[in-house]
Amino acid sequence: MDLHLNPKDLAFRERIRAFLDENLSPETRRAASLTTGFIHDPEIAVVFHRALHRMGWSVPHWPVEHGGTGWTAVERTIFESECARAGAPIYNGAGSHMVGPVIMHFGTDEQKKKYLPRIVAGEDCWAQGYSEPGSGSDLASLRTRAVREGEHYVINGQKIWTTHAHKANRIFALVRTSTGGKKQEGISFLLMDMNLPGITVRPIIGNGGDHEFNEVFFDNVRAPVSGLVGEENKGWEVAKYLLEFERGGNPAAGRVRAQFTRVVNLIGAQCPGDPDIAARLGELGSDLDAMEMIELCALSASQAGVNPGPMSSLLKLRWSQLRQQIAELALDALGVDALRWIGERPLYETLRLPATEEELLAVTPRYLNFRAYTILGGTTEIQTGILARAMLGL
Ligand SMILES: Cc1cc2nc3c(=O)[nH]c(=O)nc-3n(C[C@H](O)[C@H](O)[C@H](O)COP(=O)(O)OP(=O)(O)OC[C@H]3O[C@@H](n4cnc5c(N)ncnc54)[C@H](O)[C@@H]3O)c2cc1C
Repeated sequence: MDLHLNPKDLAFRERIRAFLDENLSPETRRAASLTTGFIHDPEIAVVFHRALHRMGWSVPHWPVEHGGTGWTAVERTIFESECARAGAPIYNGAGSHMVGPVIMHFGTDEQKKKYLPRIVAGEDCWAQGYSEPGSGSDLASLRTRAVREGEHYVINGQKIWTTHAHKANRIFALVRTSTGGKKQEGISFLLMDMNLPGITVRPIIGNGGDHEFNEVFFDNVRAPVSGLVGEENKGWEVAKYLLEFERGGNPAAGRVRAQFTRVVNLIGAQCPGDPDIAARLGELGSDLDAMEMIELCALSASQAGVNPGPMSSLLKLRWSQLRQQIAELALDALGVDALRWIGERPLYETLRLPATEEELLAVTPRYLNFRAYTILGGTTEIQTGILARAMLGL
């Protein structure tokens, strides 16, 4: 494998860098860098998304016919890495990385026409309504009920951990349309507007102090049948397809490397020359290199039209662990300074301090919030179970 960029790729990288210099304002960079949760606020991310949209780059991973770029795996990696290096925020991954690919694959022509252009343009913000109390890893046990009445489903039940449901205008949800047979068989995948009467959103504040997730209650919600994706009772197939994209469909190494670089700089300022910290940095750096290589293999496979498959579990496992270990190293490097705590969020609105001091105040909330990385999108134990079955034939 030749890992050097050829002159064409280098020119592509220059083009991306020039675009980022021009379109990523210092305010947006600061807001993204002081985001302590695991996801950027849509309000700050949508501005950059619109700039990408003007270039035709807002969903680079999509097929060209739906608004994608047709970039090669190398170009996509360069783009993602450069965006991460520049500190660009990501807008609504639930739209572009989850429900978008699902609609392309399983949706009707009307659904494609209605929803895909709005995701490309950043006009819709989607939430993911999968998990329920008691149905997370064991997702197929979900109980939110949808009963068909003419051209509507009447929905009753509850979702939980619904990221940014308080900001989203649409939700895709798994609902139970049949209780007969195996639990995987009676599930359907539904697209809904968040403003339907009977939907209530209640906040959950994470341990790092951020409001990112919510409970969502459905109380006799009447959702049009036109939102059904795929066949009724066959939503499990749709749900699994989406999870592959959620876990490994997007290059993550660039983001992890950007986090790593920030921590290297922080350590350089806080505790230069500490041999224990230096050893941990070295270990993390080589683990990151290894993960990057796995990701490149997955990307070139997807370029050839191969689904990420179980490889997505391996990637999810590694990037989530690395993000936590890097956050933990930053915390350790701060020592007792890590005990300083600002409760108000978002930090980019609360703080007005010199940049280096602001950066330090983000370390502890980020460490706490990042504990969630090995839970969201399927826990570490679930990913290792999938890998064991796929690779060891268990
Ligand atoms: C930050 C964050 C954002 C999230 N955003 C969303 C969202 O937007 N939409 C959404 O629908 N959900 C979301 N989730 C929910 C997430 O998908 C679930 O938390 C996750 O699937 C785990 O489910 P659970 O919390 O019910 O834990 P459980 O499934 O109850 O797991 C508890 C523990 O048991 C272990 N365990 C469970 N089953 C097995 C098994 N078979 N083998 C081995 N170990 C097992 C788990 O690994 C875990 O350690 C989010 C979660 C987090 C943390």
